[in-house]
Amino acid sequence: MALPYRGRLAPSPTGYLHEGHARTFWTAQERAEAAGGILVLRNEDLDPSRSRGPFVEAMLEDLRWFGLRWQEGPDCGGPHAPYSQSQRRDFYRAGFARLRREGRVYPCFCSRQDVLRALQAPHAGEEEPVYPGSCRPSARQAEQAGARPPSWRFLVTDGEVIEFEDGCRGPQRFVAGRDFGDFVVWRHDDVPSYQLAVVLDDAAMRISEVVRGEDLLLSTARQLLLYRALGLDAPAFYHCLLLTDQAGRRLAKREDAWSLRALRGQGLAPERIRRQWPGNADCAAHGSSRCSDA
Ligand code: GLU
Repeated sequence: MALPYRGRLAPSPTGYLHEGHARTFWTAQERAEAAGGILVLRNEDLDPSRSRGPFVEAMLEDLRWFGLRWQEGPDCGGPHAPYSQSQRRDFYRAGFARLRREGRVYPCFCSRQDVLRALQAPHAGEEEPVYPGSCRPSARQAEQAGARPPSWRFLVTDGEVIEFEDGCRGPQRFVAGRDFGDFVVWRHDDVPSYQLAVVLDDAAMRISEVVRGEDLLLSTARQLLLYRALGLDAPAFYHCLLLTDQAGRRLAKREDAWSLRALRGQGLAPERIRRQWPGNADCAAHGSSRCSDA
């Protein structure tokens, strides 16, 4: 029997949500409705240095204004509470302990940009370089031990092919060690990475399909390795095309002009915003090359 459809909206309260988020979330809502399923709202306030309480409030308000509705979330509870990542640290620790016990991770003493950024989903233009493996177990890490607490990286098998069928973009294929390297799952300051937290949460909350932007395809490939290593069933995936500005750049939270707040302030109605989005027939899996409100 098919699983009941459970989708999720997983915004990070690190700024005001913009039209690009709204479009991805709208697709998630339409897919949940079409399948007679439900939507979970998860507050991804994992990064203590960038998440802000007022942005959480703003996020809920802006999503509701836009017409998004969820049946489980930090504001309404549900069977998989808590729905804020900052309150789920012990749960992540258990997943991390399993990876450690099974020798799937190793300590990394490098202080690199990708370690610092590990708490955030790597959106377009933010992908880390393939880790050169300086701290792999074969490297001489013992010498450095004790200098400071390490970060922990998931050890990938170089050359392993990761394939999956995306509900929107069609067949996907990535190669570990070439498209991405060993990635951080736990940071030296004792915070879980985005990659680990999102896998543990999507599995625990019984998410059956993850709808997210296409810039996270590589993250999905990494996450599939984590699902397997943790003995968890992976959900289906549906990666949406990103909205871009007139110059073809991805919308970013720092550009306030695209924020839902600003659009609302201009008196724009959500229906009107949605009407301006690129058309329907843009999904590779549905016969053409782009994805949208199928
Ligand atoms: N909180 C992440 C973000 O806002 C979620 C990405 C995902 O869909 O996994 O970028």
